[in-house]
Amino acid sequence: MTNAAGQVAHGFWGAVGNTPLIRLKRASDATGCEILGKAEFMNPGGSVKDRAALGILQDAVDRGLLVPGQPGLVVEGTAGNTGIGLALAANAHGWKSVIVVPETQSREKLDYLRMIGADLRLVAPKPFADPGNYVHVSRRLAEELGGVWANQFDNQANATAHERTTGPEIWAQTGGRIDAFTCACGTGGTLAGTARALKAQNKDIRIVLADPEGSGLAAWVKTGTVKASAGNSITEGIGQAARAPGNLQGAPIDDALTIPDAEALEHVYSLLIDEGISVGGSAGLNVAAAVRVAKDLGPGHTIVTVLCDGGARYQSKLFNPDFLREKGLPTPPWL
Ligand code: PMP
Repeated sequence: MTNAAGQVAHGFWGAVGNTPLIRLKRASDATGCEILGKAEFMNPGGSVKDRAALGILQDAVDRGLLVPGQPGLVVEGTAGNTGIGLALAANAHGWKSVIVVPETQSREKLDYLRMIGADLRLVAPKPFADPGNYVHVSRRLAEELGGVWANQFDNQANATAHERTTGPEIWAQTGGRIDAFTCACGTGGTLAGTARALKAQNKDIRIVLADPEGSGLAAWVKTGTVKASAGNSITEGIGQAARAPGNLQGAPIDDALTIPDAEALEHVYSLLIDEGISVGGSAGLNVAAAVRVAKDLGPGHTIVTVLCDGGARYQSKLFNPDFLREKGLPTPPWL
């Protein structure tokens, strides 16, 4: 059950979804298009991943693996946001959560996970091929502890949640007037599920993957092979260097764009200071891709994208002059 506009929501589970679709003024005015951002930072756990968390846990309930009100354990490896959604959703039903996160993720997300009672296990960042990679560590921990492994990368309940909610919401909110959708991928659940729902309504809607530098997914869309590109993005939760996750496989994607951090951050800062909308790096990347697609299509088109989470989750990085200088990125004038 997800959030229904204008009605009382039942707890965390009932408050996820039905987020506003916000017209992004500067991006729209600059391109002569309507560029609209799905405000996923307004979910109760603060990110788009609340939808995946709920879809995965509801599936586990449906399969009898978890029972609301009875002891249960959820285990997951995550860049942070899925862990936050899972831990809060678990709290709401009296379950415990063990969340494995690479220690390089923002301090704010790690502190938040501790704050909400998740059993946080930090691991060193390792490539997917290494058994110490956070995904594999979480799978082994789930087996050892007898918990439910959420497995967001390959568990289709993730993409299905977006196919059932995000996509239909966008279709309804635009009244079907949508020409393109841009979206970055971590697991691919948001892109694949939303794209499937939109293409089912109109197969001509252009679906564009927005990829950070260093990720191999843009190459995968174009050639069928994941090929890590040059560069190292500071965006969190998106891009893959080693594989296309199960949730992304088979998604109806028309094109892919690789977006440099500096271009994504321009939108993060402008949305914040010119429009009062606070978002994280992946949202900036998504908006940058939407602007590029708008310029390509020409004036008069509608492009929808995803504002995955809020800027406060990255205060110590994207809004920290020392961190930005260290990464060779420009510092916004007010900081
Ligand atoms: N943006 C942020 C901030 C995220 O945390 C994630 C998920 N890790 C994504 C985008 C990507 O979403 P998905 O897993 O659905 O591809």
